[in-house]
Amino acid sequence: MASLDFIADHTHAAPGHNAGETTSGPPASEAGGILTVDLAALVANWRALGRRAMPSECAGVIKANAYGCGIEQVATALARAGCKTFFVADLSEARRVREVAPEAAIYVLNGLIPGTPQVYAELRARPVIGSMVELAEWDAFVAATQWRGGAALHVDTGMNRLGISATDAAALAPRIRSENHGITLLMSHLACAEATSHPLNDLQIRLFREVRMLYRGIPSSLANSSGIFLSDNAHCDVVRPGVALYGANPTPGRPNPMRPVIGLKARVVQVRNVNKGDTVGYSAGWTVRRAARIAIVSVGYADGYLRASGSSDETPGGFALAGGKRCPIAGRVSMDLMAIDVTDAPPLKRGEFVTLIGDELGLDEVATAAGTIAYELLTALGHRYHRVYRVE
Ligand SMILES: *Cc1c(COP(=O)(O)O)cnc(C)c1O
Repeated sequence: MASLDFIADHTHAAPGHNAGETTSGPPASEAGGILTVDLAALVANWRALGRRAMPSECAGVIKANAYGCGIEQVATALARAGCKTFFVADLSEARRVREVAPEAAIYVLNGLIPGTPQVYAELRARPVIGSMVELAEWDAFVAATQWRGGAALHVDTGMNRLGISATDAAALAPRIRSENHGITLLMSHLACAEATSHPLNDLQIRLFREVRMLYRGIPSSLANSSGIFLSDNAHCDVVRPGVALYGANPTPGRPNPMRPVIGLKARVVQVRNVNKGDTVGYSAGWTVRRAARIAIVSVGYADGYLRASGSSDETPGGFALAGGKRCPIAGRVSMDLMAIDVTDAPPLKRGEFVTLIGDELGLDEVATAAGTIAYELLTALGHRYHRVYRVE
């Protein structure tokens, strides 16, 4: 049933498509938007991050449906490239990864929901233990079942989100090292890695080093994407890049060392001429300043194109590329549609596409225009797009 393709998020070989591609979602001929995920670029980014962090192991953070990009597709591509360790947010994500990566170590960042240790064992997934009560529940399970599938111990070094305190970690160390609690990773998380001169970075790196000394023999992990570029002292044994895999710049203010992964195009539903003095869209907040041509495209905030990208007479918004020309979004972004001022672009036909992300319109720039960060833009990516996964 073709309509089921709308909800199926699994990659299937698309007959008639390029051998280097798989697709999902509605067919390209019917879709209002086309999202391209370049898995070859993603793998190249993973390799580049691994080289940068050498000799540390490079894991892959693929929580939130691999930052909106498709967890099965991304896990498959990274596992094939040699990635052995994944981080997800919850058990349902762990289950999806286990299906496509039977051998991988899968850590679940949000920790242990009460009553779930057995599920971890069934999935051979590893909880990231973030509090003393979680540790107690896991210990009881491990003692009762002799399960040795592993777990991470998360130590809070200044983020104040998840993790046991450094003091608790120090007190526990002799017990964890002598009895076998199956702790396979000691980890912490940086709060400000992208702000290279923030004093908290050094404090966290130093505090984590002190804790690590007490856990010698157990691999340790601290750095997210930006942490990899922050300092070699943050690399430890395993690095945990997420957003940089997907092409966002882990070094804000400096040139982006990553390859772009995401491309988004929106279909032109119609092109209309509007008169000077007219307004465009909801709340009539964008006034036509000269006779203009407006392309109505079929991507809106329900597709994850954030409403904050819209414009008004007072505030500029985001852009689209039409025939290589930068064209401003005209007025508010609607649920399923938005208007682009294409007056200065070469003529556009009904059914053609404008670029919303890609070429000169980088992911980070588009996020900034919406007043947010690439993380939010990626994880909002919609489910109505025809998705093309490039594998070579
Ligand atoms: C999300 C997350 C990461 C990855 O962070 P990026 O900034 O996307 O690289 C790493 N570690 C933890 C604990 C996370 O929650």
